[in-house]
Amino acid sequence: MRFGTGLTPCYNKSALRTRIRRIQRRKIVSIVLVVAVLLFAVRVLLVRAGSPLQLAGPNLVANNNFAIDSDNNGIPDGWTTAFPDAKGIQRRKFTVTPGSGYSMYIAGVNNWLRSPLIDVRPGESYLVSLQALADNTEPNKQSPTQVELWFHWLDARGIDFNIDLSDRQTVPYRQWAAITATRQAPPRAAQLSISIHPLTDDRIVVDQFRLSQVGVHIGAWPNGKAAALAFSFDYETEMGGLIHTRSEDDPNATTDPQQRAQRMRAGADLILALFQREGVRGTFYTTGYNFLTGNRDGRVFMNNPTYTWATTDNRWATNYWQSHPWFSSDPHTDEQANPEWYFGSQVRRLYAAGQDIQSHTFAHFAGSYVGPDDWRADFAAWKAVAAEQEIAPATSLAFPWSSSAGMTAQSWQVLADNGIRSVTRTNWSQPRFALADRTTYALRPLPINKEITVIADEYVQPPQLPQLEARVAAAVANGGAIDLWAHTEETVSAAQQATWQALVHVAKQRCWIAPVPEIVAYHTTVRDLRVVVRSEQPQYVFQITNPDNTDLHGLTLTLPMQPKTVQIGGVRQAFTSNQLQLDLPAHHTVEVTLWPA
Ligand SMILES: [Zn+2]
Repeated sequence: MRFGTGLTPCYNKSALRTRIRRIQRRKIVSIVLVVAVLLFAVRVLLVRAGSPLQLAGPNLVANNNFAIDSDNNGIPDGWTTAFPDAKGIQRRKFTVTPGSGYSMYIAGVNNWLRSPLIDVRPGESYLVSLQALADNTEPNKQSPTQVELWFHWLDARGIDFNIDLSDRQTVPYRQWAAITATRQAPPRAAQLSISIHPLTDDRIVVDQFRLSQVGVHIGAWPNGKAAALAFSFDYETEMGGLIHTRSEDDPNATTDPQQRAQRMRAGADLILALFQREGVRGTFYTTGYNFLTGNRDGRVFMNNPTYTWATTDNRWATNYWQSHPWFSSDPHTDEQANPEWYFGSQVRRLYAAGQDIQSHTFAHFAGSYVGPDDWRADFAAWKAVAAEQEIAPATSLAFPWSSSAGMTAQSWQVLADNGIRSVTRTNWSQPRFALADRTTYALRPLPINKEITVIADEYVQPPQLPQLEARVAAAVANGGAIDLWAHTEETVSAAQQATWQALVHVAKQRCWIAPVPEIVAYHTTVRDLRVVVRSEQPQYVFQITNPDNTDLHGLTLTLPMQPKTVQIGGVRQAFTSNQLQLDLPAHHTVEVTLWPA
């Protein structure tokens, strides 16, 4: 194939054009061929790199064998159904392997059984499998039916934004059959639950429910713990909610504020002693006067405001504070003379003992009534007095009187700008203002600003111990986080001490106990981790990267197989589990290799 060798002897324009066209055609054909070969090669590489992973790990959903029904309502803990009175739902002892616990019976075309939640990551695939059979007893109804499995994808706020249905699958009559489906988590997915739907009124029985991840699953909490639990306290001197007493959300509102302050102080020491015995750290939500060792100089805080909103209409006990400056009752003495007003030496002791000190506001004002300027003044005052005790600025805030209702976007922005990353004591009594998830205890981002996380709290009082245990069980069933709290004044009686002791023991069994900010930081960082599976065969090789500033300890991985040997960051060791725990410092990547045999 030559061209441009000069004019041909029989030169003529049309012959030359024909020849050029032929040559161009050949050229195009060869270019197309090369491109096709290249495309094929690229496609092969891409398919290799992105070939769907095959190996799925063990079950991840809590109570998947229906064994626990602690409230005895017929519905296993963590599971839900169309009808809360358990109509058409029963736990049965009729199982695939006789004597192996429970199966679930579901009756009614409009009935369903829905699993607890698991944490998921967008792009990862999840496999559900179960055994089912049709179980009508009437002689003329002994026939197979069909079921569907629904994948409910929830976003970080808990919104059920996508429901993905499986194919319809046949459930044979009186013969167990495997029902399975795999789906990939869509963008934004943070949690998943599966519901089981019979497509007729034929009664079905389901057993061996399993929900697993294809690949490596990263547990939400360290050291294989099912849930996270914080113990936290509203910790305030007489200048907190005691002198500014309000009836709402406070069983001691009518008690003498001086006695209450003495109990606040005594309780903080008792809790510290209990926590030190048990090796536990809590969060003390602290008001401004707690940091003072006195105020003989008559320092003025926040320009000593008068809050005209503090009226009986807004449920204050009197209208006194409507016309008196907020800090006007300061005796201007010191901690020795008036230990009810200043806790400076105690807060320093708590901090030195490793307890977490966070903000209950400086002023103990109501978030519902103040504006952004009040918040700015409050943060400035809190930071200043905390710094005098060498205590770090707060990253977490507990609203006085659970007064988050009515907070404006501007006020929330002031919280975020001042470094607040978690809030608690959010409104619980008016569902239209609710921010916290008190059903599954998932940490939720604040809708206006996802930098701020909302943890659900439960108020600890001795008569409520059984209900509190049930709330902890709900958090465990859904892999959530729960904050158990009271004022430090409510930790002093024998009954209160026994209750806190009992809760520490309950929590230690299945929960990671940590201060609120540490729970929130762990959760945020785990969400940001990146996992890349390099190969499944002959060794299973994957890398995990921590792109954040938080060191992760005891990171818990559920593996897609039970390896005989594991190599982490170059160190190889024998292994006998499908759960692996490792430390992953900030900005580190670790490579893990699993040898099946
Ligand atoms: Zn308070």
